[in-house]
Amino acid sequence: MTVLEGEHLTKNFGGIVAVDDVSFSIDKGETVGLIGPNGAGKSTLFRLISGVQEPTEGTVYLDGEDITGMTPHEICHRGLVRTHQIVHPFENLTLAENAAVGAQFGGRNSGDPEERAHEALEFVGLDDMAHTTPDELSVGALKRLEIARALATDPEVLLFDEVAGGLDTDETEAIVELIRDIADRGKTVFLIDHVMRALMSVSERVFVLDNANLIATGTPEEIQNDRRVIEAYLGE
Ligand code: ADP
Ligand code: MG
Repeated sequence: MTVLEGEHLTKNFGGIVAVDDVSFSIDKGETVGLIGPNGAGKSTLFRLISGVQEPTEGTVYLDGEDITGMTPHEICHRGLVRTHQIVHPFENLTLAENAAVGAQFGGRNSGDPEERAHEALEFVGLDDMAHTTPDELSVGALKRLEIARALATDPEVLLFDEVAGGLDTDETEAIVELIRDIADRGKTVFLIDHVMRALMSVSERVFVLDNANLIATGTPEEIQNDRRVIEAYLGE
C-alpha cells in the first residue's frame, strides 16, 4: 500500500531547476534511501514533501490525500515529519523540553505530550540526560535529540536528511541502529545520507537524484551496479 507519493514534482529557484519532474512512490513500512551528488536536489525534494517549500509544479500525496501547499505543521499532524540536516535545538530548554516541543507540534493523538517526549528520549538513549541542556551534548547525541524530537510527534513517515552527517564511525553506527529500530516498528523511513555504506545497509530501495532528475531506483545491489549511477558519481 502506497503511503507517500510524489507526482511530477518540480522546483525552480529563479533560473535554477533544483528538482525536475520527479515522480516516486513509497509503500507503507518501507525504508528508502535517497542518494546523489552534492546539489542534486535531495534536500529540496524533502522540503517539498514536508511542506517547507511549495513545488513550482507537481503534487505530493500522503495516505492518498493531496498535501501539496499544506504547512509543515499540517503535514506533521497528518503523520509525516522531517529531521533537519543542520540541527538547531532550543539551547535554553532541557532535552525533555526540546522533545516536548516536538510532541506538541505533532499532537496527533490524545496521549500526554510529556509522556511521548519522555518515551522518545528513552528510545534514543538520552533519557538520563533529560534535564540537561543541549550544550552538554556531543554531535552524535545532538543528532539523536533531533530524532527524538521527530519521534515525539508520533509520526508514521519519517524523513531523515543526512542524520549521520559529520559523525564518526561509532556514532554513525548508533544512528543506523536507531533507524533500523524505527523501521522495525513499522514506520516508513525516507532517508538522505552521503555515508553510502550505512544507507545501503538500511535501505530496501534506493532512489538516485542527479542534477535535479531521478535517474535510477532499485535495490541497493541494483543501484551499486547501475552504470548511470556510477557515472553520476564519477562526474562529481
Ligand atoms: P542536495 O541536498 O542534493 O545537496 P539541494 O536540494 O540543497 O541539494 O540543492 C539543489 C540545488 O538547488 C542546488 O543547485 C542549490 O544551490 C539550489 N538551491 C537550493 N535551495 C535554494 C534556494 N533557496 N534558492 C536558490 N537555490 C537553491
Ligand atoms: Mg542536502
